Amino acid sequence: MNVDLSAEFLAATPTHENRSTEQLRAWARIALDYGDELAAAHPELPQLDIREKTGGKRPGEVLLAEYHHRDHRVTLYRDSLDFAREVSAKRGCPLAPEKLRRAAIAHEVGHHLLHGPRTRELNRRLGHRVFRLRAHVAGADELVVHRYAQRLSGIDPLLLNNFLIDALPGA
Ligand SMILES: [Zn+2]
Repeated sequence: MNVDLSAEFLAATPTHENRSTEQLRAWARIALDYGDELAAAHPELPQLDIREKTGGKRPGEVLLAEYHHRDHRVTLYRDSLDFAREVSAKRGCPLAPEKLRRAAIAHEVGHHLLHGPRTRELNRRLGHRVFRLRAHVAGADELVVHRYAQRLSGIDPLLLNNFLIDALPGA
């Protein structure tokens, strides 16, 4: 995951169609740094109740995992994880099942960590304002979480994301 790929990720996110490359790169850099900080502060995954089931592959999307905030449960989608390993192997980038599992869980944990005050802190650092009010930068939270998952798993989630997008039916 580097600034170039991360800025491209933001550019592909709705609302950023007309933003300058410099602006997107600046935001990408802030999001990546924040993901690094999050990983330094929370280098271990918490103890979670993890369940596995199938049904993550849906029309137009591949859901690897889901976090259930109420009871701190994570659902892993076995069919999606298998699909992710298949497409990565086909693209010459085989992934160890344990690493991929860890990346998927870390992604969900990252979203949980980013909840509340950390989202406000991210928005403060991004410094985006609309009508003089602090505004959300679409996709920046996802970048932070991708970076966090990368730090905890060693897998590049943006690369995996691109493989999955290319492999989706109709892509
Ligand atoms: Zn996410």
